[in-house]
Amino acid sequence: MADNKKIILTGDRPTGKLHIGHYVGSLKRRVELQNSGLYDKTFVFIADAQALTDNIDNPEKVRQNVIEVALDYLACGLDPTKSTIFIQSQIPELCELSFYYMDLVTVSRLQRNPTVKTEIQMRNFEASIPVGFFTYPISQAADITAFKATTVPAGEDQEPMIEQAREIVRRFNHIYGETLVEPEILLPTNAVCLRLPGTDGKAKMSKSLGNCIYLSDPADVVEKKVKSMYTDPTHIKVSDPGKLEGNTVFTYLDAFSRPDHFERYLPEYPNLDELKAHYTRGGLGDMKVKKFLAAIMQEELGPIRERRKEFEKDIPAVYEMLRKGCEVARETASATLDEVRRAMKINYFDDAELIAEQAKRFSQE
Ligand code: ATP
Ligand code: MG
Repeated sequence: MADNKKIILTGDRPTGKLHIGHYVGSLKRRVELQNSGLYDKTFVFIADAQALTDNIDNPEKVRQNVIEVALDYLACGLDPTKSTIFIQSQIPELCELSFYYMDLVTVSRLQRNPTVKTEIQMRNFEASIPVGFFTYPISQAADITAFKATTVPAGEDQEPMIEQAREIVRRFNHIYGETLVEPEILLPTNAVCLRLPGTDGKAKMSKSLGNCIYLSDPADVVEKKVKSMYTDPTHIKVSDPGKLEGNTVFTYLDAFSRPDHFERYLPEYPNLDELKAHYTRGGLGDMKVKKFLAAIMQEELGPIRERRKEFEKDIPAVYEMLRKGCEVARETASATLDEVRRAMKINYFDDAELIAEQAKRFSQE
């Protein structure tokens, strides 16, 4: 039965290293929530089975990136003594739950999911969508509900997934009795972090689009990526007035800059508004703004990069941490599955009442 515990669950697909979009969209928040003491449990998982739905012919990519994501987690401050970190495929209960949920969702409902629609287009799947990919919102509902998660910190693209999960929970509880918990999404409070654009100015920084600044990028790579970022193509001479809209450098400043950064790196401007005003007026070159952004990025990413290097020294220990996490996660998921089977009346062998009642009925016939 549902109790009043507050439980966090989120995950990432091991399709590449994690980037600053993940960081501002979800990862940073998770670490804060983990350390806040406000939640009873935190589960964070590496969604390898989901990654395979659109990488079925590339299992090596998924296999190699599990450790990359785990290292990024640890580097950002996810702490296995406070959070359960696990790998999706190692929890078979999640497949079982998805299988039952498939009966609660219609094909047309899945077809309406806007995120899945966009992702199908992005992957040129229109003519031949793998069934597993098409139904991944259902498996995601299983991931969330198996742990009775109340709170899912994620980027904006996950909103339709959470809504789908909520519908499944309502339908399940309606038919089988109050068993599952309805999750809520926790979106970033800073609007630009809902969906951080790529360095190329495209709508979303995404591993699959190759427009990322990775958390583990060396300092010189970060420097290079910032310097070649998309700005305002009509801002050619320093004296030209510049546009802020669609200007990725300013979007990143919206996401990352704080007043103390100005004091340290750009004391001639009191704040971001003044910097923006000067850019819009004309007379402020892209390079100066990019240098400022690069300094901020290095300050934010430097400690993450250093911590990652430490964890990289003991890879077997990281796998051991994941193994233990899987064990703990499996216990929780398996307890939920017991409740689900009971609610769905498929718990034959531990239902003594059923057997006794049927024995009686048959003996009377
Ligand atoms: P893929 O291209 O393989 O789908 P991805 O970069 O979209 O990878 P996911 O693993 O699908 O990353 O997403 C993990 C989490 O990070 C989700 O909560 C998602 O909302 C968030 N996220 C991903 N990209 C961004 C972004 N550009 N801005 C904000 N949040 C993001
Ligand atoms: Mg994605």
